[in-house]
Amino acid sequence: MNTTATCHCGTVRIAFTGAPIMSNECCCTSCRTANHRFEALLGAGQVVNDTGGTPYTLIRKDRVRLLSGGDCLQAHSLKPGAPTRRVIATCCNAPMYLEFKAGHWLSLYTDRIPLGERLPVELYTMTGDLPDRSRLTPGIPAPKTHTARFMAKLLGAWVAMGFRVPKIDWVKERANG
Ligand SMILES: [Zn+2]
Ligand SMILES: [Zn+2]
Repeated sequence: MNTTATCHCGTVRIAFTGAPIMSNECCCTSCRTANHRFEALLGAGQVVNDTGGTPYTLIRKDRVRLLSGGDCLQAHSLKPGAPTRRVIATCCNAPMYLEFKAGHWLSLYTDRIPLGERLPVELYTMTGDLPDRSRLTPGIPAPKTHTARFMAKLLGAWVAMGFRVPKIDWVKERANG
């Protein structure tokens, strides 16, 4: 199975194969802060859901590749030297993915994946950071922090990858902002 995630205008295209590791909606303060900043950029559109969470689809780094638009990718960190960076497509300001540099997975913004190919949200994460948890959809697990199940899924993928961390070097290091 081949899936292509694209920015709003179609310049940046990221393909992945196989089933994602999982689909979560992250409710942490860092995601909300960073993603609300992106929403202020022209054309970015809504990034954070009305729940206060942002949906991500986690893909193994060895199953993802950049098809086009690398020149448009720009990394943003909340703080200099932060282990996490969020990458946007500057052509249309669509947020593309979040990367924990030492991690073996890439968190694609689920909104970049074609509608019919998105996994439903399996899990809310870090809901303890939400000012109001009442907007979360009932029936979806909503732990206040990261859980053993979340970690086990990530670990399972890493085992399958032979404990490798493929390098994703699509983004030229630039001044963060
Ligand atoms: Zn674009
Ligand atoms: Zn988060």
